Amino acid sequence: MIKKCPRCGANHKKKGTYCSRSCANVRTHTQADKDIRRKKLLDYHKTPESAATREKASRSRTAYNKGLEYNAIPQEDYAVEIPTVMGEIEDYEMFDNFERIEKW
Ligand SMILES: [Zn+2]
Repeated sequence: MIKKCPRCGANHKKKGTYCSRSCANVRTHTQADKDIRRKKLLDYHKTPESAATREKASRSRTAYNKGLEYNAIPQEDYAVEIPTVMGEIEDYEMFDNFERIEKW
């Protein structure tokens, strides 16, 4: 089946809509797109996550100015317990995601 690339108008038989990767990668940013992006960013600034990020950045800067190294995350938080898998792997909920990916 021959398709016509909506970007450059070339006929092609490739998978997907566009004739080439470069054609597919071109995106037009309309003013509406920009407005949506801007609104999302503004919404993000209202979230607690954003507040925490700014708080962290500010503390880090303060520490830096005092010549200290700021470490927001204590080492204990990096440590993740590795569970011992006994019996069937299917019994463990945490592996559900892997299974789903396989089914794709
Ligand atoms: Zn094209």
